[in-house]
Amino acid sequence: MATTDPVENLQALIRCRSVTPTEGGALSTLESALTSLGFRVERMVATAEGTPDVENLYARLGTEGPHLMFAGHTDVVPPGDEASWSHPPFAAEIADGMLYGRGAVDMKGGIACFVAAVARHLEKHGAPRGSISLLITGDEEGPAVNGTEKLLTWAAEKGETWDACLVGEPTNPDALGDMIKIGRRGSLSGKITVHGVQGHAAYPHLADNPLRGLLQLTHALMDPPFDHGTDDFQPSNLEVTTIDAGNPAVNVILAKATAAFNIRFNDSWTADSLKMEIIRRLDLAAAEGALRPGRSPVRYDIAWSERPSHVFLTRNNALTASLSEAIETVTGQTPILSTTGGTSDARFIKDYCPVVEFGLVGQTMHMVDERVAVADLETLTQIYGGFIAKWFDHARAE
Ligand SMILES: [Zn+2]
Repeated sequence: MATTDPVENLQALIRCRSVTPTEGGALSTLESALTSLGFRVERMVATAEGTPDVENLYARLGTEGPHLMFAGHTDVVPPGDEASWSHPPFAAEIADGMLYGRGAVDMKGGIACFVAAVARHLEKHGAPRGSISLLITGDEEGPAVNGTEKLLTWAAEKGETWDACLVGEPTNPDALGDMIKIGRRGSLSGKITVHGVQGHAAYPHLADNPLRGLLQLTHALMDPPFDHGTDDFQPSNLEVTTIDAGNPAVNVILAKATAAFNIRFNDSWTADSLKMEIIRRLDLAAAEGALRPGRSPVRYDIAWSERPSHVFLTRNNALTASLSEAIETVTGQTPILSTTGGTSDARFIKDYCPVVEFGLVGQTMHMVDERVAVADLETLTQIYGGFIAKWFDHARAE
């Protein structure tokens, strides 16, 4: 990797076939680039039963505070049908000002630009007045069990602490400078099973159709809305994602039926308060008789997903101000501070330090012909460079 040139950095990374959870040479490529810049690089392999072993990387430049972390991942999703790409997914070809390849925007591009920004910062200003580290996982696109969460624990146990973190995931919907993510909604999933009595569809009084009860319960989850949004977040939203009875016969009432749901929730709730509200709704609906007149309450049980994602919001001036200022200086655009979209590894980092996310334009992520404008790579490098300089100024002044 040439280090000061984000295009060459990205080409070197794309040419490593690091389809999750394979390392594919991507972390080694990054390691040699960071070593040449003076970083101390450590590779950490995380293991867990039932999941593939995953290689991760932690690199630090400097020993003092303040300490700025950049977080990301070098693993990529599979290319799909390679023949349907107009340029091979691991060739990193440039055509009409676009660089093609799996991971171009999600998120080898963000890493390539950050490395270039650090290299330029070192050339211009010398060593940072503090520390810069990169926390890079190979397990973001996979189960995410052996990635960022374990890498953070591992580093923290060695005494690492951080003052702020920038995640380089693609955050811009249309153009570079549109959007910084300053928080994420939480995510909670569950599965409801309703128990009935099996029987003949022509003799329903002898049976108890669990689907009637299940419809009562799922309706109660969807209506009324959980809230109307907050200053920083859109309204919480629950989707019933499947209803299953698995019934091959039209004349049989089955003994049980299940439904699964996922709710994306805002900062009006915690995962626990939300569980209580959901159970309150289900119990009320279970007792109601609209779809099951004259029957006893619906018999149901609920199983929660193992690991809910918690909602978070970052209110840290040094971090958001430095990034917004850098974006405005380079692009002339004022970014929206947003909490929309799915979860990200920032949900783990927020337990250690304030975290925001800003990267490339996300339009082609995970698609065939994933690509990035070559001009955007230069722009993002300048934004990251401006951010690094401004963040150290802010952090040292505080
Ligand atoms: Zn990503």
